[in-house]
Amino acid sequence: MAEALPAGKGSRSTANTICRYRPWFCIVVAALASATWEDILTQQITHSELEKAVQQSPRKWVYLFSEGNAKMRDLLGGKGAGVAEMTNAGLPVPPGFTITTEACNAYYEAGKRFPQGMWEQTLAALKIVEQQTGKGFGKRDNPLLVSVRSGAKFSMPGMMDTVLNLGINDETVKGLVALTGDERFAYDAYRRFIQMFSKIVLDTDPKDFEQVLDHYKEHAGVKTDAEIPAAELKKLVVEFKQIAERQSGEPFPTDVYQQLHKAIEAVFSSWNNKRAIDYRNFNKIDHKLGTAVNVQSMVFGNMGNDSGTGVAFTRDPGTGEKQLYGEYLLNAQGEDVVAGIRTPSKISRLQEDLPQVYQQFQQIAHRLEQHYRDMQDLEFTVEKGRLYMLQTRSGKRSAQAGIKVLVDMVAEGLITEQEAVKRADTTQVYQLLLPRFDENEKKLAASEGRLLAKGLNASPGAASGKAVFDADRAEEMGKAGIPVVLVRPETSPDDVHGMLVARGILTARGGATSHAAVVARGLGLPCVAGCEGIRVSEAEHLFRVVGSDFVLREGDDISIDGATGEVFAGIIKTVEADYEKETELKKLLGWADQHRRLGVWANADYPRDAKRAVTFGAEGIGLCRTEHMFMEQERLPIVQKMILAKSQEERQEALDQLLPFQRSDFKGIFEAMVNPKTGEGYPVVIRLIDPPLHEFLPSYEELLVDVTRLETSGENAEELQEKRKLLDEVGSMREMNPMLGLRGCRLGLLFPEINIMQTRAILEAALEVAKEGKKIHPKIMIPLVGHVNELKEVRRQLEAVAKEITSEGNAEVAYKFGTMIELPRAALTADQIAPVAEFFSFGTNDLTQTTFGFSRDDAEGKFLLKYVDGLTEPGIEGKVKILPVNPFQTLDRDGVGQLVRMAVEKGRQANPHLELGICGEHGGDPDSVEFFHMVGLDYVSCSPYRVPVARLAAAQAALTTSERDK
Ligand code: ADP
Ligand code: MG
Ligand code: MG
Repeated sequence: MAEALPAGKGSRSTANTICRYRPWFCIVVAALASATWEDILTQQITHSELEKAVQQSPRKWVYLFSEGNAKMRDLLGGKGAGVAEMTNAGLPVPPGFTITTEACNAYYEAGKRFPQGMWEQTLAALKIVEQQTGKGFGKRDNPLLVSVRSGAKFSMPGMMDTVLNLGINDETVKGLVALTGDERFAYDAYRRFIQMFSKIVLDTDPKDFEQVLDHYKEHAGVKTDAEIPAAELKKLVVEFKQIAERQSGEPFPTDVYQQLHKAIEAVFSSWNNKRAIDYRNFNKIDHKLGTAVNVQSMVFGNMGNDSGTGVAFTRDPGTGEKQLYGEYLLNAQGEDVVAGIRTPSKISRLQEDLPQVYQQFQQIAHRLEQHYRDMQDLEFTVEKGRLYMLQTRSGKRSAQAGIKVLVDMVAEGLITEQEAVKRADTTQVYQLLLPRFDENEKKLAASEGRLLAKGLNASPGAASGKAVFDADRAEEMGKAGIPVVLVRPETSPDDVHGMLVARGILTARGGATSHAAVVARGLGLPCVAGCEGIRVSEAEHLFRVVGSDFVLREGDDISIDGATGEVFAGIIKTVEADYEKETELKKLLGWADQHRRLGVWANADYPRDAKRAVTFGAEGIGLCRTEHMFMEQERLPIVQKMILAKSQEERQEALDQLLPFQRSDFKGIFEAMVNPKTGEGYPVVIRLIDPPLHEFLPSYEELLVDVTRLETSGENAEELQEKRKLLDEVGSMREMNPMLGLRGCRLGLLFPEINIMQTRAILEAALEVAKEGKKIHPKIMIPLVGHVNELKEVRRQLEAVAKEITSEGNAEVAYKFGTMIELPRAALTADQIAPVAEFFSFGTNDLTQTTFGFSRDDAEGKFLLKYVDGLTEPGIEGKVKILPVNPFQTLDRDGVGQLVRMAVEKGRQANPHLELGICGEHGGDPDSVEFFHMVGLDYVSCSPYRVPVARLAAAQAALTTSERDK
């Protein structure tokens, strides 16, 4: 008895161990005092036994696969819900059960102890699996082996831990030999188990095992693990156990229940390992969700050449093409494919290797896709010609594939247009329009011999930067703002922190479903994988190009094209994406336009930006900043003269010189915003000068250095005098808090000539364009108004100019007059301001600054990002988060949002015709767009590249909020 059920720890008695890991044994023992252990082991535990265990617990912690379904992702995790759904659909899934995410959370709440009743339910469920498989856990005859798999609500590929072949020990391995007649297989399974269990559960260093394994391969004169003879494997197992014992300080657990207990604990713990936390932080996944644990009977892909294991997508995750896409390895187990240890075969080859299996797999793939109405990512294993499904989940895909799959599925009648709009990923829409490598530059680079190699096009996009060969270094450099491309032999979950900051990823080994590829696609990072033309030396921090002398070292420039798999030395120039050619995206956005209420305008300062915005679908310019026009080289000296003018005449003279420049700028913008076919123009909101004037002057500090230098050298007296004068003038304009200083409408009130010149330029430009028969709608916007009197006075100035122009040109120009709402006082007194304005535009950047009292220029660098990332406090586990998100990126609904809502309500009440928009950076942020939709703004205005995102986000807001109201 003691032999069959050995104690886990030397000091603890056998009975104690049994009771710890098998309390139901003890309960049954008490009931059947006369029964032997063998009797008890053969007790039939049925479904009612599980029900009983549940009744005796505060909650149901364990669900058989047959008890779950796809809707239970919160409770069972994605993997658990997926296998449950497949089980119930009658697909071949090895039997098993899921321990809930609630159990994981209860485990943490109880100070890392299993919640009451969970272990009993686990054992009852395990009994049922024994019945279903006809095998016995820990039994020498026909032993049941299981996998213990993590699985959270949202897939976190490779982030948490899975143990395979659990239930193997010196006894059961003999049963496995007897059953299969394959000693090599049985001991290979055993050594894999020890290796995996040690790494994941006992937390030992995997390197020691790999070294010994390599040593055995060398000794046996073979290349792969699969070729090591059985006799050698037996010795290897003994040695592996010794390593595990030496490293962990306790005997390797031979009690299968103890193995199970520890493995479940390890999966719970893996929820809070560093890489999982990093991944969740980056992907904004809630840390409180917890992971489920799936315990599933094992099937074996390593039982010969009629066995194998693989992963496949129902469509190409890079392009979206409708065809099976994936890889498999014959005679291999579990993670061999994903780990990139051997380079696997393309899934289409399975047609030749195992034609019947391929056909069945194809049918299942199709069925699952129809069932889930989404592209699926599948894991399967073939045991002696029989196919088993191990996982299904919606597949991660590139931006291009993401959009194409949706549009195709609408055409196939699988989903509706509305659903496609709701499901589309705003981040992917943004990525799709990002720059790509210039084809000519690529050709040039190739002709110069800079095309080094070609790997798999694992995740599209263009990335250039400094090559870096380890994740820590990449993190360091990336955080310092240096663009890096992470180059690795292959990646593992330990590299994720480096991948997060990299521009792109290059690996020498591993397929299109390797860790690097999957993570990169999820992050939207360009990735070239399995680039066998390079040999990476981690130790030397370089790679060599096969068949040439070329060596690329750490810090050298490198460019990778994730869409083609090409790897270049040096930097390659990028070009704009061609929106006109993105037919699928255009179709999707066309559907979005039918559902949105919000208008989408763009912020554009130059005709070029305005034109791009129109191509991307902008319906107006919500913010044209006039100060950028002042910064241009030929104008800046005139602007400086204007600022430093000693008299009004001097200032006027400079302004007179600026007028024609401004007029032609505005004309350009107006013309860009006229539809050439209809002559109809979109609205253009032009904001009068906003920033503090010293932004146009040389820096005070630099001038000070110059003056000091000239003083000590005593060389150029004339220059010194000039610089001193300038230093004085610039000094006199310095402010302690320029963001709260002489800027915005305050400038035009103190120097009315500036407002007059700008208004004249705008209206004259408008008249000129109107004379060409084009209909244009200029709107003049006043920044930083806090008191209605400021706006009243500016309005008076403007009306006077308009009158002048009308009488000069004998033509009237229609324009609208409005203000930004970007100070809390303006929002609070919106009812007083609204009668003086025809429109409001919320300047949410300044409004966020002034509501929080954060200076944006300093806050992000000094403390804000730490507020969002979390602070480390002594004595507190984890990080203390002060803010959920950066309020400059996503509008703070509770604070800033309340001011917006108030201004909307008060403003509309006082002036029913008031037009309302927003032109801060939040106009392109999907979450903020939803808020703007809800408070009833008329339009959002964002940077041209974000216009497609805003169109989609506005439609999603309309669709989801109308659903919520139902
Ligand atoms: P991950 O979340 O990292 O993909 P999984 O739990 O899916 O981890 O397990 C990794 C691999 O282990 C799977 O792809 C599968 O090939 C293998 N595996 C898991 N459970 C079983 C099982 N019951 N039988 C055979 N192989 C399994
Ligand atoms: Mg998996
Ligand atoms: Mg502002």
